[in-house]
Amino acid sequence: MDYDVIIGLEIHTELKTKSKMFCSCANLADGAAPNTNVCPICLGHPGTLPAVNEQALKDGLLLGLALNCKINQVTKFDRKNYFYPDLPKGYQISQYDLPIAYGGYLTVGAKRDIGIIRIHLEEDTGKLVHDKAGHSLVDFNRAGTPLIEMVTEPVIASAAEAKKFCQRFQQILRYLHISDANMEKGQMRCEANVSLQAKDGWEYVDKQIKPLGRNELNNKVEVKNINSFRSLEKAINYEIERQSAMLDKKEAIPAETRGWNDTTNKTVSQRLKETAADYRYFPEPDIPPLIISQALLDSVAAVATEMPQAKVERLMQEYGLNEYDAEQLTADKALSAYAEEVFSELKAWIEAQGDDWQRQEHKLMKLAVNWLESELLKHLNLNRQTIKDIKITPENFAELISLLAAGKINSSAGQIILNQMYQIGGDPSDIMAKLNLEQSDNADELEKIVAQVLADNPDQAEAYRAGKTALLKFFVGKIMAASEGKANPQLIPELIDKINKSLNKKYGKK
Ligand SMILES: [Zn+2]
Repeated sequence: MDYDVIIGLEIHTELKTKSKMFCSCANLADGAAPNTNVCPICLGHPGTLPAVNEQALKDGLLLGLALNCKINQVTKFDRKNYFYPDLPKGYQISQYDLPIAYGGYLTVGAKRDIGIIRIHLEEDTGKLVHDKAGHSLVDFNRAGTPLIEMVTEPVIASAAEAKKFCQRFQQILRYLHISDANMEKGQMRCEANVSLQAKDGWEYVDKQIKPLGRNELNNKVEVKNINSFRSLEKAINYEIERQSAMLDKKEAIPAETRGWNDTTNKTVSQRLKETAADYRYFPEPDIPPLIISQALLDSVAAVATEMPQAKVERLMQEYGLNEYDAEQLTADKALSAYAEEVFSELKAWIEAQGDDWQRQEHKLMKLAVNWLESELLKHLNLNRQTIKDIKITPENFAELISLLAAGKINSSAGQIILNQMYQIGGDPSDIMAKLNLEQSDNADELEKIVAQVLADNPDQAEAYRAGKTALLKFFVGKIMAASEGKANPQLIPELIDKINKSLNKKYGKK
């Protein structure tokens, strides 16, 4: 049977503030020896007072604005009570009914807006370590790390769409510099709520799924322990298949939390949710409600940068990039800034060249895109570097593209020059002159070389004249070698034809 797939996501993100959420301990969960990065506040000693981390508050506002949310200008913290050995206070300070931001959306792909229910601030727990001897050890270094929780509306319709959402969300966290959002390190943790409902058996009411008529809704299943985008997609697809097989057999889906296992590629039941957990939320008595002033909100809004989707659309519009290329070049904020500088340099160069070139702007941008994506990124990937490590300025990169476009160098010379620029930096025109790589457009000189190559390879020349055009590649190779790479390959076919015609005349052929 066919069902509607309904997915909602909950994403927890560790913020990279200097200090923890409510104390002045360094926010460095990894690397330090266990239980060295702690204080009476994050250990929950009686009589201690938490104080809200201002940067974490600003980060929450920034994310809320970036995701088109409304801001609760009166917000507060609440205690979420539960017992677990990694939770030193016996409660977590979180936000309940007045989250910092609510009611936003994130655009994924072409014009698909995924609703955001809420964004709130809270603190992370410690970590349990289970050793081989069967002991459980607890490390509180992570306790009190600032966390942002984001909850989407249950409107995601496939595993692929959920993955796209998480990728875009990660990109935004990085654009805003509020988290490194590394999933393997647990800095960004995605949980998916997956349910399958009978077609025409449900409707959305107040952003929630409600049954239609006498239909009863199937339970949703929460999937955890997902540490990569690949796992997220696989785990959701596994759940869709598992649940639909059960529904086909008229079995009820238990409401439960399941963990994804990357080795078996299956989800495994972790606990049943027979009743909604009662966390006995109440307002945190040690932290008064926060009033977010308009001045604070304005100052945060002022640093909000252009979000990836907007950048994709602008690159398409201003520089004529296609969507795929625009997405590739905005994957990373620094790369997108670099690429844009290259494009704008090139645009200025084109304008200086006059009308003929302006008609070719689109072609030139594509040339720049190709050299950025294949040549420059190849160097970076090989050396495990990012665009920030690079010695090539955007101006010099744009100049390299203009040399290629103007036919002053061919692409193999371009690669040699780029490699030099990559290794030691420098101006591409200078490198071109120093290495004597300027392409020869001197037709007389080139014609001599072509004639010589044809004369040196009489059998191939004869076959070519008889119509074996595939030999062109052979000749181009020979001629490029003979010219030490300086011949303009685009001129070669024409020159061969010219020489052949004169030979035909000489031998009286048509
Ligand atoms: Zn502390």
